[in-house]
Amino acid sequence: MVLLLLVFAVTQGGATPDSVVVHEEWLEADVPKVQSKQVEHVKSGDTAGLILKRLGFSASEAARMIDAAKAVYPLQRIYVGHTFTREVIKGKAVVYYYIDANQKLELTALTSTSWKAALKQRSIFSRVSIVKASIQDSLFWDAAKAGLADNVILKMVDMFAWDIDFSRDLRKGDSFQVMFEESFDDKGQKVGYKILAATFTNRGHVYSGIRYETERGVEYYDVAGRNLRKTYLKSPVKYSRISSRFRSSRKHPVLGYTRAHRGVDYAAKTGTPIRAIGDGKIVYKGWKGGYGRFIEVRHNNGIHSTAYAHMSRYAKGMKRNKHVKQGQIIGYVGMSGLATGPHLHFEFRSRGRAVNPLKVKHKPAKPVPQGEINAFNLQAKAMMLIMAQFDPLRHWG
Ligand SMILES: [Zn+2]
Repeated sequence: MVLLLLVFAVTQGGATPDSVVVHEEWLEADVPKVQSKQVEHVKSGDTAGLILKRLGFSASEAARMIDAAKAVYPLQRIYVGHTFTREVIKGKAVVYYYIDANQKLELTALTSTSWKAALKQRSIFSRVSIVKASIQDSLFWDAAKAGLADNVILKMVDMFAWDIDFSRDLRKGDSFQVMFEESFDDKGQKVGYKILAATFTNRGHVYSGIRYETERGVEYYDVAGRNLRKTYLKSPVKYSRISSRFRSSRKHPVLGYTRAHRGVDYAAKTGTPIRAIGDGKIVYKGWKGGYGRFIEVRHNNGIHSTAYAHMSRYAKGMKRNKHVKQGQIIGYVGMSGLATGPHLHFEFRSRGRAVNPLKVKHKPAKPVPQGEINAFNLQAKAMMLIMAQFDPLRHWG
């Protein structure tokens, strides 16, 4: 049973910008309020008695505790690296020994001289936080100042990488809000995290992403249920045939010697439009040796780039640093450079390495399934509402 106990906290102090609001929501109503906590790890040669002494108990008290524990767990059986804690909860001392991932021994002080021992299931606590910040210096710097861990920042960048070029497009004043859930074990150790929803405002345009799980797995969708991941066009041209495939080595038809063919040749009539297979930015446009008229597009995810060679001409307006959209015509098939006939030589690179374009697995980026769209809408609405309510101007001004 999950109950909501809301704890609102506005971060304060010079280390965090004023715009940051952290909202913490404990998804477990009975999270005890720990007033103080000491931690001791079992070392080689340790006994429970020695550890309890380090935790501040007298020898006779430690003996009574070990005695009380006997019925449920013998404290002669402790292991190096495992943990004892002494906590004060509601004025009472509680000692835990963490037996394994599932169980812990709990010793509660009944009176000043008697202890009660019990075996407890260990549980996972989840905490949902919302962090909101605007970018003044750099995304990483401002996000870290706002209290976001590196892996949460990276995950958020991944979410929006298909729409925003994080290395080039960010501007001072861009802002983001991210709602994420961290899970902790009962020692307070973080065991996982996930982003539930996020919005990113880039140059005045608001992008949203909502985590949603379907039978296909977990994906992030925009508020309309469209997948945030994009997919590439299957091919950049309408071609008559593939005249040469990707090969690590082959006899070059013009040069005569054997060398690798790091792309695919699509035979097509001169003048056939060539389309960018995905959104991105032109990083090279110009004559490039045997490639002739050549364009390289770096795609928004920052990992992939595609190259288009032997063009007869470029489409109007193509130049370095120009953003192109998926399907946009960037040039026309030709045989410039070293080519025996009109074709498009097409390369696909992943982290700079040429891979076979015909073997690139384009994981389909499907929207939320029709049958689940109502459930998704409810969830998306709820998440966006929670985030909107943490507008610092409205609530914390
Ligand atoms: Zn080729």
